[in-house]
Amino acid sequence: MTHPFDLTGRKALVTGGNTGLGQGIAVALAEAGADVAVAGRSSAADTGRMVEAAGRRFAEIKADFSDPSCVERVVEETVSALGGIDILVNNAGIIRRNDALDFTESDWDDVMTVNIKSVFFLSQAAAKRMVAAGRGRIINIASMLSFQGGIRVASYTSSKSGVAGLTKLLANEWASKGINVNAIAPGYFATNNTEALRADESRNAEILGRIPAGRWGDPKDLGGAAVFLASDASAYVHGTTLAVDGGWLAR
Ligand code: NAP
Repeated sequence: MTHPFDLTGRKALVTGGNTGLGQGIAVALAEAGADVAVAGRSSAADTGRMVEAAGRRFAEIKADFSDPSCVERVVEETVSALGGIDILVNNAGIIRRNDALDFTESDWDDVMTVNIKSVFFLSQAAAKRMVAAGRGRIINIASMLSFQGGIRVASYTSSKSGVAGLTKLLANEWASKGINVNAIAPGYFATNNTEALRADESRNAEILGRIPAGRWGDPKDLGGAAVFLASDASAYVHGTTLAVDGGWLAR
């Protein structure tokens, strides 16, 4: 009998999979059996080696999601490299920090374009293939700031709150077409994205003091949730945002 978490033969596209959480997710999907394409700006050679070490096929697709017009090409290249697209993980994201009183239009627009506009249009492009195939999985990477306000990150909070809402809207429209749309909300993970927070001694201590698990997350900690939401084990899960946060939200 096939294990419900088995992804053998599935084709996954992970955006921003060269580093951090995207790399952790790409490798976890490969270890569960999926072939993986990674779309982004920087070389994903390290991720490629890890995916291939798991015995799966790997493809690297050049894409800059600050311009959403690349989304059709990214999906087409995934399909031609891997033979299909069953799983899309919208992981690429950026953050800008400034007081709300001083926040600039470019810090607003840059973040909203990568974190929410490109997420929608890439999901739309992938879903056209998934609808035709009668099945698909879309996993959006949300944040604690999909639930909370945060501070000094106006466009990031707006984009990630938008991701949680968009996840529900797409689930409503696409569940009946065989597509499961869900999100993962990571807590505080040690990646480039949180380097500034970890370097600030008092913010670091404040954050650690609030995490019941008592440590920053490691990108590997997201693998189980990603495999679950990509697999048949979550067949009846639609529109949810699953927190993987060491207990942060429970505090
Ligand atoms: P990261 O190490 O900074 O990785 C971000 C990824 O997004 C990189 O692969 C980056 O590529 C890619 N990216 C950024 N702008 C892009 C663009 N215009 N076009 C293509 N790719 C682009 O940070 P991370 O922590 O792993 O973040 C991954 C996701 O998790 C983001 O959506 C982030 O908001 C979210 N998240 C992170 C945390 C955390 O604690 N770390 C918590 C909650 C949510 P380059 O290497 O080329 O820049």
